[in-house]
Amino acid sequence: MTGDLSILVVGAGPVGLTAALSLARKGVRVRVIEKQLQPSHLSKAIGINARTQELFRETGLTERFSEAGHRISGASFLNADGQPLFEISFDDLEIPCDNMIALPQSETEAILEEALRKLKVPIKRGCELIGLEQDGEGVTAQVRSGGETREVRTPLLIGCDGADSTVRQSLGIGFPGSTMKHEWSLADVRLKTGLPPDRANVVILPQRMLFAIRIREDLWRVASDRPGVLENLPNSTEAGEVLWESAFRVSHRQATRFSEGRVYLAGDAAHIHSPLGARGMNLGIEDAFVLVEKLVSGVPQTYSPERMKTASHAIRQVKLQTLLATSRNPIATVLRRYVVPYLLSISSLRQKITRESLGLEPI
Ligand SMILES: Cc1cc2nc3c(=O)[nH]c(=O)nc-3n(C[C@H](O)[C@H](O)[C@H](O)COP(=O)(O)OP(=O)(O)OC[C@H]3O[C@@H](n4cnc5c(N)ncnc54)[C@H](O)[C@@H]3O)c2cc1C
Repeated sequence: MTGDLSILVVGAGPVGLTAALSLARKGVRVRVIEKQLQPSHLSKAIGINARTQELFRETGLTERFSEAGHRISGASFLNADGQPLFEISFDDLEIPCDNMIALPQSETEAILEEALRKLKVPIKRGCELIGLEQDGEGVTAQVRSGGETREVRTPLLIGCDGADSTVRQSLGIGFPGSTMKHEWSLADVRLKTGLPPDRANVVILPQRMLFAIRIREDLWRVASDRPGVLENLPNSTEAGEVLWESAFRVSHRQATRFSEGRVYLAGDAAHIHSPLGARGMNLGIEDAFVLVEKLVSGVPQTYSPERMKTASHAIRQVKLQTLLATSRNPIATVLRRYVVPYLLSISSLRQKITRESLGLEPI
């Protein structure tokens, strides 16, 4: 058995890296284990929202994200010909940051890893957690690395190991919720298009929704609530080189508790929902900051109830927005066409919805 006094973070995704960074900056000894040998090159979560920028401000990384990415100034809802139906401008909000920065998740993770290297926080890759036990003094984690299994002792363990979390399953914590029937599709693709380059675009096509956000230059993320996004691009948009294509099912799920004894869950290990509104990674990063603050302030027992409330509120909202945006039900069609544009024309309501989707509304 090996052990020292450092906290063990499981998973080097954006949430695990943030938890480790936040602990290290507070002078707490921490180490990270990650089952993949190499960092992921996938773009996955593209939007860094205003709340996340606020949280990273004192680390100096908000400027790094801002320099590496580009600013998204709002959301445009368009018809198949690219004509605007209605708009939400983030500039309506008076906040001292970029509202939303478009940056691929792989680059966000690289910036976080670099910051951890500077603080000499060890990240052990190719090291997988396979089980854990805990007692009054600490946690014993079983880890597999290079074909060998050993036990690692830690006073406290943070499970940031994603939606299929081994940590959550080892604790016997449930992950109830639902999975949507249709498969969604996404691609990172070079486009020739007239879509606004600094907006999150939602194109309402006859039989599907298409979401398009520019990553950089002519490289765009396109996604749809049905398979075959590239075969169903809006009029006057032409696809070039495809860098990444994937299909996935959208689930809305939340762990039945976010902690058990000396073990905590954060990020996708604790909650998952539709990518609409780009809240997933941001909500997880917020978990990490809140957890560390509570650990160092000596009130860790408040983490689970507080974050469960925030997550369930966000999941409810994102699920509703996703159903409203993607349902073929005639009532949803009428709501989308007439009611939503009307509601968004009311400035106070528009601001509230925008602030919530940027993570700025207190729950
Ligand atoms: C195709 C796709 C597109 C997405 N698009 C968006 C988007 O547009 N906007 C958005 O907000 N979100 C998006 N997401 C979701 C977003 O990527 C996640 O919310 C985010 O990655 C969660 O971060 P995390 O650190 O909690 O988990 P993850 O990023 O999943 O990281 C978990 C890490 O733990 C490691 N791990 C797992 N098990 C173990 C173990 N037993 N031992 C050691 N290490 C382990 C994994 O290898 C991984 O590196 C997308 C996800 C996918 C898959």
